[in-house]
Amino acid sequence: MEKISYQLIIFVFYFFLTIGFPGTASCADERPAWTLHPAKLAIGQVGLFSISDVPATRMTATFLNRPVYFHPASGSLAALLPVDISTPPGKYPLTIEYEHIHHGTKKVITIQVEVHPYEFPVEELTLPEKMVTFPEEILKRIQDEKEAVDAVFEETNMSLLWNGGFIKPVEGDIVGLFGSRRILNGEERSRHMGVDIRGKEGTPIRCANSGRVALASDFYLLGSTVILNHGQGVFTIYCHLSKAAVKEGQQVAKGESLGEIGATGRATGPHLHWGAVICGARVDPLSLIEATAMVAEMRNSKAN
Ligand SMILES: [Zn+2]
Repeated sequence: MEKISYQLIIFVFYFFLTIGFPGTASCADERPAWTLHPAKLAIGQVGLFSISDVPATRMTATFLNRPVYFHPASGSLAALLPVDISTPPGKYPLTIEYEHIHHGTKKVITIQVEVHPYEFPVEELTLPEKMVTFPEEILKRIQDEKEAVDAVFEETNMSLLWNGGFIKPVEGDIVGLFGSRRILNGEERSRHMGVDIRGKEGTPIRCANSGRVALASDFYLLGSTVILNHGQGVFTIYCHLSKAAVKEGQQVAKGESLGEIGATGRATGPHLHWGAVICGARVDPLSLIEATAMVAEMRNSKAN
């Protein structure tokens, strides 16, 4: 009889230790505070998720079957949440797993993130037929080049190189929107996977953030192209350059010139085609500027 009471006391003690004593204030251990900016994500957009008060070691997270990488940002942890352009609207879980810093207990937090539809614009363009219909050998070259570009985006585990907010690589009007459905010579052909920024031939193009040159090459459709790897799966793409001024493997700093505006590849006039890919998700690069502007503020406020 005495033995049973002893076991009961142990059980009750363990029970309260595990779930917390009733009536106590919310325990920071169990209730991390988080924010998402913007609060509602749309297809083809990237948001900034931040979380604080997580007593964690070995934290890993996934969203839409992609890894989510956290980095310290002013007392909290921040991560980019990209939504690929092909994602159907709906609610998707952001799953965060960690081990408790003190007692090693495995924890899982699941946050439902709403992904909203977005009506992408339709752009009708009339181009010379040779810019739309290609002979067999050119089609093969275009396909090979697409595969070479896609292979670059597979390196998603390089350490963080970007810091603070991404910047627009050239000043100038946006003349082609991300995600627009392109009707070329009356036929719907492809989605526009970047933004087109108008600029004069020879205008310097700035690196949107610090990183490493993952690719600098000439392509049939994209023309002279540079891809920067900013680490943690974040890439920015620059096309139709008159000439690239950087070499593969080179480290670059935010704001540094990587080349000049041109009209190489399939381009009707000088402009920069600028794209962004995050862990394989194709997103609007302008939303990357918006999402990371918050990171800059957080880091700056810490420095002030
Ligand atoms: Zn473009």
